[in-house]
Amino acid sequence: MTASTFSVVFTAFVVAALAWRTFLAMRQARHVAAHRAEVPADFAGLIPLEAHRRAADYTLDKQRVALVETWVVDGGLLLALTLGGGVAAIDALSARWLGDRHVRDLVTVFGVMLVSALVTLPFDAWRTFVIEARYGFNRTTPKLFALDILRGALLGVVLGSPLLLLVFWFVHRTGNFWWLYTWLAWIAFTLILVSTYPRWIAPLFNRFTPLEQGELRSRIEALVARCGFHAEGLFVMDGSKRSSHGNAYFTGFGRDKRIVFFDTLMERLTAAEIEAVLAHELGHFARGHIPRLLGVRFVLALLLLAVLGWLYQQPAFYQAMHLPGPQIGAALAGFALVVPVFVFPFQPLASLIARRQEFEADAYAAAHARAGDLVSALAKLYRDNAATLTPDPLHSLVYDSHPPAALRIDHLKRAGESPLETAP
Ligand SMILES: [Zn+2]
Repeated sequence: MTASTFSVVFTAFVVAALAWRTFLAMRQARHVAAHRAEVPADFAGLIPLEAHRRAADYTLDKQRVALVETWVVDGGLLLALTLGGGVAAIDALSARWLGDRHVRDLVTVFGVMLVSALVTLPFDAWRTFVIEARYGFNRTTPKLFALDILRGALLGVVLGSPLLLLVFWFVHRTGNFWWLYTWLAWIAFTLILVSTYPRWIAPLFNRFTPLEQGELRSRIEALVARCGFHAEGLFVMDGSKRSSHGNAYFTGFGRDKRIVFFDTLMERLTAAEIEAVLAHELGHFARGHIPRLLGVRFVLALLLLAVLGWLYQQPAFYQAMHLPGPQIGAALAGFALVVPVFVFPFQPLASLIARRQEFEADAYAAAHARAGDLVSALAKLYRDNAATLTPDPLHSLVYDSHPPAALRIDHLKRAGESPLETAP
């Protein structure tokens, strides 16, 4: 492989991805706009026309920003940093300051991340303070916005530095199989992160309070016990601190399994609906979605690291990025930029797996709570979050981690009709 072959192939992938994303965005915009005037029949009575139109406008507004961001970040910035020599320039700068020590590689990696973050920042700010604010969702103050960024960056440096230094050490000490040791370190790092996230990391950003005693709590304790989960793992999070969007999620494994409800969700759902949403989240645990997802990620990481191990020895890779030679910090940063372009064609597969897991969790919820309650909870979530009910089918197939609302509700209604799967 020569440097120019690498450059041509890479550029072709970048351009193809941009064209494909733009095409999908245009389809989505056309589809949502075309269905703006009428609430789909399945949702008549559940969602008023006013809310449906608002969801369409919100979807279109978000989509426009996302498309500009794609062109700027995944097009311009990406090419400037890689083939344009951006990573090489940052590495040369750190070399001039720090000489040839490990800290130089560390600074190169964080320098590239800093540049990317600075370019993405205006888009995040626009989303939060213009679009979210326009639809009445935003509750983040500029101060909180800035604090979140600082906290996130600090966390990245504190957690990332030891791992990166370990990788640099492997490169210098373990010869050609450094990427295999890196993989083992990555597995250990991920497992530590997943198991400490709920207890140590998430609380840096939000307050978590155990679900209060009372009618709701006793109501769901029975459900939780039936599903073999611990009620100590149920928390309410102050999501209202940043946004009025409501949600629920599951996290962690082993003894640190948690289900988290946003306070904004608790306010709007009835006890029966909360129970149904909880049953859905429990379904993710019961079906082992976290270990399965981790397993897939570990296999993928091994493949990617093997490619990196090979690429690290290819002069063409460095020449294409204008680097003088193999330098691990620059190689890692460059690789992290290049990889998503080649992984992007697999996006529909990842979305497909995620959607199948949602159906599994819904089926579990229909078997352990009432399907009808989950349907009305979902309708409320779609309405209050202004999520579109009429996504373009192709766009949804590629990107959506959750099945389209109509399809999901259709499945649930059928599950609800089956007497075997109806809750007592
Ligand atoms: Zn789910």
